[in-house]
Amino acid sequence: MINKQEITDRFISYITIDTESDPNSETTPSTEKQWDLARKLHQELTDMGMSDVSIDENAYVMATLPSNVDHDVPVIGFISHFDSTPDFTGKNIKPQIIHDYDGGDIPLKGSDLILTPDYFESLTQYKGQTIITTDGTTLLAADDKAGITEIMTAMKIMIDNPSIKHGTIKVGFTPDEEIGRGAHKFDVEKFGADWAYTMDGSQIGELEYENFNAAGAVVTFHGKIVHPGYAKGKMINSMYIAQEFIESLPRMETPEHTEDYQGFFHLHNMKGAVEKTELQYIIRDHDRGHFEARKEVMMKLVTDLNAQYDREAVTIEIKDQYFNMREKVEPVMHIVDVAEKAMRELGIEPLIKPIRGGTDGSQLSYMGLPCPNIFAGGHNFHGPYEYVPVESMMKATEVIVKIAELIAMDANG
Ligand SMILES: [Zn+2]
Repeated sequence: MINKQEITDRFISYITIDTESDPNSETTPSTEKQWDLARKLHQELTDMGMSDVSIDENAYVMATLPSNVDHDVPVIGFISHFDSTPDFTGKNIKPQIIHDYDGGDIPLKGSDLILTPDYFESLTQYKGQTIITTDGTTLLAADDKAGITEIMTAMKIMIDNPSIKHGTIKVGFTPDEEIGRGAHKFDVEKFGADWAYTMDGSQIGELEYENFNAAGAVVTFHGKIVHPGYAKGKMINSMYIAQEFIESLPRMETPEHTEDYQGFFHLHNMKGAVEKTELQYIIRDHDRGHFEARKEVMMKLVTDLNAQYDREAVTIEIKDQYFNMREKVEPVMHIVDVAEKAMRELGIEPLIKPIRGGTDGSQLSYMGLPCPNIFAGGHNFHGPYEYVPVESMMKATEVIVKIAELIAMDANG
């Protein structure tokens, strides 16, 4: 049903358009070049025969595949982002296509890097498949152009094969996901889906509906500078107060000591002098109660230090960043179940695990569009070792079609 050459060509036509986003830009999209791919997708959706194809002033692309059944079916959506991360260059991507992968080392020929299963164990499961890699000088942007490729291919298959029965399907492509702004200007009402899936996960089988609750904290310590020779009883060194603060938080509850469902405090920046020291933290926890408790621990520490120094020696500002989508998905758990069922029917073992981060889907879920995340097939995102097996993209495409079929079938009773 899926033509391997066609899906490969489609993927390559997307990754060879540079769409790196820029966190320092205020505009949407953050970079002008993201329009290049947005416009191409808009054109392709139109040419393919999708309905209501639109592109708004912020480059969000949307389209509709109308239902081909008589009964009422929930409207579902599939979403991917077309920007690539600013962490590594995505300019002039020269992909290598490895046919019938032998399970050994893959030299990335534009560099001296080697993609080896000794280090990247995940490679071994793709022996015999077709693997697309970089040449070592760029990332691949399979994150998330694999997702776009899969959604586009799935729509084409459903248009070309009317015997596949489905309800109304919505498609959305967004800019700036990599800089945390993919969902910001997403018009949920216009999209008009009951729920959606981001096709933005990694290895085959991944299915995610839990992510961190997230906040950022800036803690400022105020000292008093006095000539060191005459400082006794007068100088207050803000760096020592900051040190007390750092040491009062549990050292093992940090990113380098935690995994799975374990939350953390992460000190990611500090700058200080006697007069003033500033610490920047991020706070992460899947459990909402624990998340709130972490914030309270920090605030209590500030109160205690101020009491100890008998002055306002410390101030803190905490801002929530995003929340665990689980809260919004659990009441409609059938949307995860149907994705799981689709995978099993296709012989894919679902890998359901909590995301140690956020996705566009977590924000969309709180904007009224419950939105779990499904694998797009790539590995080693955001760097030169990124790769994607073509077979995984084909499977993800089949998952999209299967979900559409199952939902239309369920709705028929
Ligand atoms: Zn992504």
